[in-house]
Amino acid sequence: MNIVKYKNNQSLEEKIQILSDSAKYDVSCSSSGSNRQNKGGLGNAHVSGICHSWTSDGRCVSLLKILMTNKCIYDCSYCINRSSNTDIKRAIFDVQEIVDLTINFYRRNYIEGLFLSSGVYKSPNYTMELLYQVAYKLREEENFNGYIHMKAIPGADKLLIDKVASLVDRMSVNIELPSEESLKKLAPQKDRQSIFLPMYHMKNHTLMISDEKKRFKHAPSYIPAGQTTQMIIGASNESDLSILKLTEALYDKVMLKRVYFSAYIPVNEGSNLPAITSAPPLKRENRLYQADWLLRFYGFRADEILNEKNPFFDLELDPKSNWALNNLHLFPVEINSCSYEMLLKIPGIGVICAKRIIRARKYASVSFETLKKLGAVVKRAKYFITCRGKFYGDIKMDEISIRQNIKPKAKKESPYEQLTFDSFINVV
Ligand code: SF4
Repeated sequence: MNIVKYKNNQSLEEKIQILSDSAKYDVSCSSSGSNRQNKGGLGNAHVSGICHSWTSDGRCVSLLKILMTNKCIYDCSYCINRSSNTDIKRAIFDVQEIVDLTINFYRRNYIEGLFLSSGVYKSPNYTMELLYQVAYKLREEENFNGYIHMKAIPGADKLLIDKVASLVDRMSVNIELPSEESLKKLAPQKDRQSIFLPMYHMKNHTLMISDEKKRFKHAPSYIPAGQTTQMIIGASNESDLSILKLTEALYDKVMLKRVYFSAYIPVNEGSNLPAITSAPPLKRENRLYQADWLLRFYGFRADEILNEKNPFFDLELDPKSNWALNNLHLFPVEINSCSYEMLLKIPGIGVICAKRIIRARKYASVSFETLKKLGAVVKRAKYFITCRGKFYGDIKMDEISIRQNIKPKAKKESPYEQLTFDSFINVV
């Protein structure tokens, strides 16, 4: 294998500065779900996920989150690295530099894994080959067992993608724009086919390998932590409903582990881009994450959460509470007799709480007091339930009154509101 080295005058520090800064717009990283075992080498990735953290603007990043290069032959309107941005600083790491950085940072305990993305340098295959060289050197020469997440470059050959997939924990192909129409408008060198083909290919290969693993003890590894993607929210005019339907299809048909949403941040100007003068649509991004949670853990379908009549989220209220208010005829439900599926649909009751209720009901009927101890957010749940036949909501059972009582109190808006754990907890 010819390892690529680039001669230029930039110092390593300068490259790190340029290429870690360029990587911050990619949010499709999280190490959850990998169970790579250390077999006597360096590092370890385990089931609980090890290398994600939250930046001040609420995005999930790993410490060594870098681009291999921000040189790109494509010209996606929304991207800082587009080829027509001739006035930005460009840089490229050579393969050995990335390997050395990863190993040195790991040894110093700065990082627990590598998230490596890249602009399309020279061609999709050329870029993919360089990514492969990094993965190969880390795994086979440095014996690095830590977590590695790499990009699959749309348009790259399937064989190259497989070679990388057999070495890393997770791969992602970013969809970026939810429709073919928007791709044509904002990223004309990309098309849906070049994005979805590698996704379907990796899904089919994963199924084949998991079949082989059942029969052969030493079947090869293939992205054990699965694949993810990212969509930019607000750069094009798709509704929340169409984004959510696409998300649902990606989970159902392509077995994606996670879909990440990234509020559009205007870094370029262009007549085909929306004129966002205030703040990135972080509230909308937050609502999409909450709805995504409902799809993955609460048994909701996309067209239950939103519909053609109401294709956008209510920014005042979380999607589950909004669904309950739109389906008030189903409530109140008796906490002691309703199904697990219905418990999950009650605002204020999460997955753990619903399981606790089901367990507790085996021994005695659950009182309103017990419900609090089981972890329910009763100030929200009380409008949708009865406990031992009694309704504890202290107001009329109508949409307007309940909405007034459960919507979060208005607070001073910060244009860059950070996503917090509460943002996710509020989904229950
Ligand atoms: S291909 Fe990726 S890096 Fe290149 S311009 Fe498009 S979004 Fe940016």
